[in-house]
Amino acid sequence: MTYNYWHVLFAADLSEQSAYVARKAKYLAQTFQANLSVIHVLDNIPMPDTAYGTLVPLDQDSSYEMLETAKSRLKQLCDGLGVEMRHRWMVWGVPGEEIVRIAGQERADLIIVGSHGRHGLGLLLGSTANSILHHARCDVMAIRFPDEIAGSQPTSISTTLKEAFNPGS
Ligand code: AMP
Repeated sequence: MTYNYWHVLFAADLSEQSAYVARKAKYLAQTFQANLSVIHVLDNIPMPDTAYGTLVPLDQDSSYEMLETAKSRLKQLCDGLGVEMRHRWMVWGVPGEEIVRIAGQERADLIIVGSHGRHGLGLLLGSTANSILHHARCDVMAIRFPDEIAGSQPTSISTTLKEAFNPGS
């Protein structure tokens, strides 16, 4: 029986608050000398239509823009965390399902999520965090946002990430 963690998977919704959870995930991975992986699930971009081999034609420009924005935010986050390329994941689907699937595939033994995400701070536990807690085969840690972060006005993700990884700069 071992009580260490070897592979931490941080689920990043790329919201403004996720930089705070990212810092905790990095600290925990460092403390356990564990690998750190990061996953972002694209849940608001039309999936390729396999029947026709094309993207769903609905508003293609904004889909492309959202994809590019997510890619660049994930890169910025992972660069700041020092996450290796092979430990960066961006997949399509239902966040809770995909996070649990990749955790199993990559043999993560700890999943870290924020207690809330983009879907609001009103609930006790966000629906994605809740779903992961119910279905994951490994430990799950839900990081609660401090009141000053939870109640803060949205800022640019770039500013938040810069502050998170270069405090005081
Ligand atoms: P929510 O259920 O939306 O309140 O989100 C709770 C937490 O689940 C967030 O703080 C993230 O850690 C994670 N999460 C939510 N949506 C995603 C997503 N699309 N990709 C990766 N992680 C997510």
